[in-house]
Amino acid sequence: MNVHDSQWLGQSLEGLGWEQGAESDAGVLVLNTCSVREKPEQKVYSHLGRLRDAWLRNPDLVVAVGGCVAQQVGEAFFARFPYVRLVFGPDGLPMVPGALARLMREPGLRLSLLDFSEAFPERAPAHPEHGVQRQAYVTIMQGCDNFCAYCIVPLTRGRQRSRSRETILAECRELIDRGAQEITLLGQNVNSYGLDATDKDTGQGDPGFPALLDAVASLPGLRRLRFTTSHPKDLSLETIAAFGTHDTLCPHLHLPMQSGSNAVLRAMGRKYTLEHYLDLVMNLRRVRPEIALTTDLIVGFPGETEKDFAATLEAMRMVTFASSFSFVYSDRPGTRAATMEGKLDKAVKAERLKVLQDLQTELSEDWLRRRVGRHCEVLVEGESKRSARGLPSWRGRDEFGQTVNFSVPSGPAQDLIGKIVPVRIQEAKKHSLWGCVEVVG
Ligand code: SAH
Ligand code: SF4
Repeated sequence: MNVHDSQWLGQSLEGLGWEQGAESDAGVLVLNTCSVREKPEQKVYSHLGRLRDAWLRNPDLVVAVGGCVAQQVGEAFFARFPYVRLVFGPDGLPMVPGALARLMREPGLRLSLLDFSEAFPERAPAHPEHGVQRQAYVTIMQGCDNFCAYCIVPLTRGRQRSRSRETILAECRELIDRGAQEITLLGQNVNSYGLDATDKDTGQGDPGFPALLDAVASLPGLRRLRFTTSHPKDLSLETIAAFGTHDTLCPHLHLPMQSGSNAVLRAMGRKYTLEHYLDLVMNLRRVRPEIALTTDLIVGFPGETEKDFAATLEAMRMVTFASSFSFVYSDRPGTRAATMEGKLDKAVKAERLKVLQDLQTELSEDWLRRRVGRHCEVLVEGESKRSARGLPSWRGRDEFGQTVNFSVPSGPAQDLIGKIVPVRIQEAKKHSLWGCVEVVG
């Protein structure tokens, strides 16, 4: 989500005649920040601290801090770092190009864009002449209403506001017209898309995510569709069924489990049980047997016992995740978990994370090994650094979301970037696959 927001800002500023460049010789620096865990928040302070020298050398340097840490800390940044001239939260982003232009004109000025908007904060299309995006993101909602006990997102990104179906479809159509092969629909909890919206004229609720998914998946010219993130409590059977009906929907789902212990899930306020999660997995595999499942896991939530932790490891083995993002629990200001009892020792949390990540490495290696000999379709992102017998080789992602490097038998040189190419997997590496092109059309 942050990458997508940063891309939009960069391209919008380019559209206004700005140029993106190296940090060392920039006149304006924009830091887009993440506050979901303590570590990325600390990185923001140390990065801003390091900019002091650059500012002493160049007192005209303008620094803007945006995203969730800016929303959380707000104007306190002005007092701590005199070179910060703009703070903006996630909803303030659409106004940043205008705000930066104003700061250039008015040297003494400082601005903050920290209000939450009532509706989805729609933004102008980014610089239209910007190069073709083969793999594009489309935001479908802002914010979250779930208030999981550990999570700061509802406080920094605000309540859930769904974007209108028409605007989403129009953006998707335009991206496809301009050459997008793959679209990823983005939101904190895409499965509850539309539940906050009621039609002003009819008073009827929005038909929700399955209907949107159906409409996007059916757009002519779209080759691949993905969506993230899904909350297990809201993943409906209808959405699962879409994996069976739409070939465009990639066989990959990121479904954050967080913990395999029902006691911990309850304390986290996740509102599902392990049994419910495993049922979803069973249903997904029924409609798309080969589907790759990935997840988020937190270790060391307050009160997590050895038994709870063992339940998470057991659940990982049951699901056999292709990969996972795993984090040590950290207190976030304003969340319920921050004031809970039963905080765990740093060393215990670190040890559990290591055990969990070692298990994930085993599961991921197994998953990659099982792919050897199989066919896949790779959306090519660039030339590969690896090479076999001096043949030209390329790198991209297959439909499961996995990085694949592959070689092309000698023949006329061709540029495969942006093409979807059939590949036979020959070898599993530690984190990626190696293959050979089957036929180049
Ligand atoms: N909306 C998504 C996740 C958004 S945050 C969802 O509900 O799944 C991304 C991930 O960060 C979470 O899935 C969680 O695993 C992790 N995370 C969030 N808050 C955390 C905290 N306080 N400590 C450690 N990890 C956290
Ligand atoms: Fe955070 Fe929970 Fe919302 Fe995800 S669903 S953003 S973890 S509050």
